[in-house]
Amino acid sequence: MTKWVYSFGNGLNEGRAEMRNLLGGKGANLAEMASIGLPVPPGFTITTDVCSAFYENGRNYPDDLRAQVDAAMQRIETAMGLRFGDENAPLLVSVRSGARVSMPGMMDTVLNLGLNDRTVEGLARSSGDPRFAWDSYRRFVQMYGSVVMGVTHHHFEDVLDQFKRTLGVLDDTAISAAQWREVVGAYHEIIREHTGQEFPSDPQAQLWGAIGAVFGSWMNPRANTYRRLHDIPASWGTAVNVQSMVFGNMGDDCATGVCFTRDPATGEDVFYGEYLINAQGEDVVAGIRTPQPMSNARAEEGQHPMETVLPDAYAELLRVRTLLERHYRDMQDIEFTVQRNVLYLLQTRNGKRTAAAALKISIDMAREGLISKEDAIRRVPATSLDQLLHPALDPKAERIQLTRGLPASPGAASGAVVFTAEECEARAARGEDVILVRVETSPEDVHGMHAARGVLTARGGMTSHAAVVARGMGRVCVAGAGSIHIDYATMVMTIDGHSIAEGDWITLDGSTGAVYLGRVATIPPVLSDDFNTLMGWADSIRRLGVRANAETPDDARTARRFGAEGIGLARTEHMFFGPDRIGHVRQMIIADEEAVRQRAINALLTFQREDFVSIFRIMAGLPVTVRLLDPPLHEFLPHADAEIAEVAAALGRTVEEVRARCAALAEANPMLGHRGCRLGLTNPEIYAMQVRAIIEAALQVSDETGKGIVPEIMIPLVATRAELEVVRRAAEAEIASVLRERGAALDYRIGTMIELPRAAIQAGEIAECADFFSFGTNDLTQTTFGLSRDDAGSFLPFYVDHGLLSKDPFVSIDRDGVGALVRMGSERGRATRPDLKLGICGEHGGDPDSIAFFDEVGLDYVSCSPFRVPVARLAAAQAALAHREENAVA
Ligand code: PEP
Ligand code: MG
Repeated sequence: MTKWVYSFGNGLNEGRAEMRNLLGGKGANLAEMASIGLPVPPGFTITTDVCSAFYENGRNYPDDLRAQVDAAMQRIETAMGLRFGDENAPLLVSVRSGARVSMPGMMDTVLNLGLNDRTVEGLARSSGDPRFAWDSYRRFVQMYGSVVMGVTHHHFEDVLDQFKRTLGVLDDTAISAAQWREVVGAYHEIIREHTGQEFPSDPQAQLWGAIGAVFGSWMNPRANTYRRLHDIPASWGTAVNVQSMVFGNMGDDCATGVCFTRDPATGEDVFYGEYLINAQGEDVVAGIRTPQPMSNARAEEGQHPMETVLPDAYAELLRVRTLLERHYRDMQDIEFTVQRNVLYLLQTRNGKRTAAAALKISIDMAREGLISKEDAIRRVPATSLDQLLHPALDPKAERIQLTRGLPASPGAASGAVVFTAEECEARAARGEDVILVRVETSPEDVHGMHAARGVLTARGGMTSHAAVVARGMGRVCVAGAGSIHIDYATMVMTIDGHSIAEGDWITLDGSTGAVYLGRVATIPPVLSDDFNTLMGWADSIRRLGVRANAETPDDARTARRFGAEGIGLARTEHMFFGPDRIGHVRQMIIADEEAVRQRAINALLTFQREDFVSIFRIMAGLPVTVRLLDPPLHEFLPHADAEIAEVAAALGRTVEEVRARCAALAEANPMLGHRGCRLGLTNPEIYAMQVRAIIEAALQVSDETGKGIVPEIMIPLVATRAELEVVRRAAEAEIASVLRERGAALDYRIGTMIELPRAAIQAGEIAECADFFSFGTNDLTQTTFGLSRDDAGSFLPFYVDHGLLSKDPFVSIDRDGVGALVRMGSERGRATRPDLKLGICGEHGGDPDSIAFFDEVGLDYVSCSPFRVPVARLAAAQAALAHREENAVA
């Protein structure tokens, strides 16, 4: 018989933390907490296998599930001394979903299940508190009605708001039992009206309804979207947790809360969280009442910290905090309830955290001896470092502060205000910076939050949906800015007399919670000591070198600041577009008199030499790979009439002649046209000028610094050995003449990009003429797939959405196709020339998954944009650790 149900609590713990694939994260951790002696209300977990079986069998449960659930329910009844559905002493349970990883977007929780018009009276009698009993009942009807029966949440809220207005009360706790009874009646009516069904009064029907809703929610559109965004396979399924209720809403010696064992925003080693007296779990997250801080140290004037209000439960919670951190060796996010001064734990999981917190917690825990340095490296998601490198507001910048909310997710962001997730996504797709502003967010908004630069909410605390999701995504977030009034009908928000319409700009500071009018200037981030420590640890572990793609002095400096070990790609064409150069470039292309062309080339030589001198100086002896001109010449040609006239005047030609020359250079398919080494072969004077500039600059900086600069000259878009051989010979001739003129000697390398499938296939022959290869995986992806780099954006998302491709191949290397060519090129190249230096300089050089692949293939280095350098350093260390583990297993 398959075991579908695992009990926990009251001495029978059938699960363990390691069983999260079967029991989901929540179920596995409840069992683990119970088994280490923590106070967990008894319950059971229905496994993720049931979810899979449910979908495989046309949404039917396995035959023996019901009997196993009945037996597990009886165990809870025995443990609690109560009976499910009993009219005198009813057992109430919560039903919660729990996948392997936590997943907003699914049905989350139904509390107080088991109540009906009769059992509510029993609860009133057994608790001696009718107000509590009816409050619990109305909560249950509302939750069940919305999450299980599908009635929109706000129908219930509207009734309650209206009711409170009539009574003239603000706080739910001021509502009496009789009044709650009226609300329950109205809720039943709402359900009847919107579903045509009665609210189920049979507790068994309620239980199976809720279980069915959890399994059903695994395939709802929101959950599907979330899974797609986070690469979670549908086959994992969710578990269902059924657990005896404990009550935080039974009076002033009761409470409920959410806390983190360390600060999830900064990583500081302080106990952190929020709680509410006389409340149930959803009140904290819903932002209906303002939660209070946990500790006295974190409390402000007028607040009521748990440490003061419930000192015994707080002390117990502190003990649990230490115990759980030691046990899990990670920062925990804990949900708890205090019932009549007794603490119960309802959940623990590794807490979501900002990148800064992930970094600090990893370093601190390694120093505390809780984890190893290697663990610390594994635990910081490489891409999350991006967040640390984000800008902050310039302290000197002028600003008008509109309001302040909670500093829910750090960083600074400016953008146009939008009020719906849909508008947010649409504008972001058009390249606009947008700030999503909502009263509060819900899982329906996740796609909009993803597209936004920042999120601002009027309601909700540090553990509200907006705060948790934004932190996880690395979006700036200011939550619970109470002075904002949003009118969704007119798409205008007002803040203390300022009226801000959709499209107006605001700036958020997620580190302080401040909201500013308009766009406020930002400054680059300062790298913390923890950051440098982690980078140092990563560097001591990684095998792959990390260089940067940079051609401006600014980029080169940034690259060094972030720890680049050289430049893997300086795209010289970017230097041709400067306002002082483009005129000469155009003359060089269009002139047909030799003397005129040479004059333009000489002018460019001076500029290029200066360019290379400054890069060589900044890189101070580190390797620099300079790529000779790559794009087709017509990219540099004038378009506007005034520009054409300017070139015509400089060359003494008519406007028509210049126009005709431009037209002659146009190509139907320039990406596959007259570019790369093809250009160098037909216009050798351009490459000769560039080679001369490189060598002269290297000589100059070698003389200045005494450091022997060894320039690496890279030839783009080579398809055949013959192409490279001819271009190389010409370059060597030019180098020889520079050295002869100067009476100098210089070490240099000449290599090629491997960015065409033919080059990868012919890499063995090509390596005969190359000192190094650098894989241009942008063009290699384009040409292997036959997918235009510039046009694929319009249909690639369709491929990813429909599972035709698991990821965008321009972002993450296609291991089976493009990757296979990289592997082949490497192997064939090295077979010819064992010391052949191998790098990659396409965008994939900054993508952690691709970096893991390049490490596996045995490349020497990756080269990526300067801001990705730290990401690449960490990803390279993580790849090295993963290989170590694989080798240890093998
Ligand atoms: C490439 O093709 O991967 C590359 C680095 O060159 P570019 O992007 O300049 O074509
Ligand atoms: Mg290329």
